[in-house]
Amino acid sequence: EAKKLGRNGLRFFDPAMQASLEKRSQLESDLRDALEQEQFVLHYQKQVDDKGRTIGAEALIRWKHPVRGMIPPFEFIPVCEESGLIVPVGQWLMKEACQKLNQWQQNERMKDYTLSVNISMKEFMEEGFVRQVHQTIEESGVNPSNLELEITESIGHANPEELIEKLHLLRLADLSLAMDDFGTGYSSLSYLKKLPLDVLKIDQSFVRDLGVDTSDESIVQAIIKVGETLGLEVIAEGVESEEQFELLKQYGCRKFQGYYFARPLPAEEFEQSCVPCPEEADLDVAGV
Ligand code: C2E
Ligand code: MG
Ligand code: MG
Ligand code: MG
Repeated sequence: EAKKLGRNGLRFFDPAMQASLEKRSQLESDLRDALEQEQFVLHYQKQVDDKGRTIGAEALIRWKHPVRGMIPPFEFIPVCEESGLIVPVGQWLMKEACQKLNQWQQNERMKDYTLSVNISMKEFMEEGFVRQVHQTIEESGVNPSNLELEITESIGHANPEELIEKLHLLRLADLSLAMDDFGTGYSSLSYLKKLPLDVLKIDQSFVRDLGVDTSDESIVQAIIKVGETLGLEVIAEGVESEEQFELLKQYGCRKFQGYYFARPLPAEEFEQSCVPCPEEADLDVAGV
């Protein structure tokens, strides 16, 4: 008890810590305002096939701060997770993503695109998560077969049985599941085999040094093999150069995402970039 008090005492009389606590609680309260005032936006980064054709996108959240400008997720997602705000933020973004995908599905050019949404572990572990997702899908009228949820390996550490059960329940809605940042966690292959997944995303840290670091080449090849063995699709993220793209194709990777193809873009810009170029439009007409 005395020790506890001592720690509290230190907290309130250390000016640096006091300042950082104040900053933190200011950030939390700003995040609450952000939610109410709809300051969050989704950007969309295209995913392509081996011919460079767009097959879908990943939705990436940004905070359009009225004073500080565009704030990237690593600056506020952790605070959302620790404060529990990730639940309403996650609900907002699932709704936004489903509406967007529903629009694409009405559009001849974009109707087969998949849309991937990142799910944080905190959010996933929340009691009503699965029901919420199903409800949002239903309310939006989207066809969920083109909706993909991205989870990370860290998700499993809490309770593997519960995780597997939840993943199965989620998939009852006919959506797909991807393991994001694959290779950076500690999942054993026997564990991975039990997870009802559809897609492995090769973490960008392994893609970065392709052609430079031979151990990364071996890791990427191994991940692609694991995907094949388990019957999963594999997508490489963080592809920044033609050389990386070529090597990945050579190793048997079929889906790609990265700055080499496009940066994450606001919805309108992403959709603009998907408009067919004139020659392609001609080809479409000729093909009818
Ligand atoms: P992630 O899901 O692994 O997303 C990929 C990140 O890599 C994105 O950063 C993307 O902009 C960036 N990226 C894409 N291509 C390249 C490339 O060629 N080179 C490099 N260096 N980077 C590339 P971003 O948008 O800053 O997001 C960072 C992380 O924040 C995400 O990693 C994800 O874990 C989290 N995040 C983003 N949006 C959401 C969201 O809506 N909900 C949740 N829960 N987490 C999110
Ligand atoms: Mg992701
Ligand atoms: Mg990733
Ligand atoms: Mg990541």
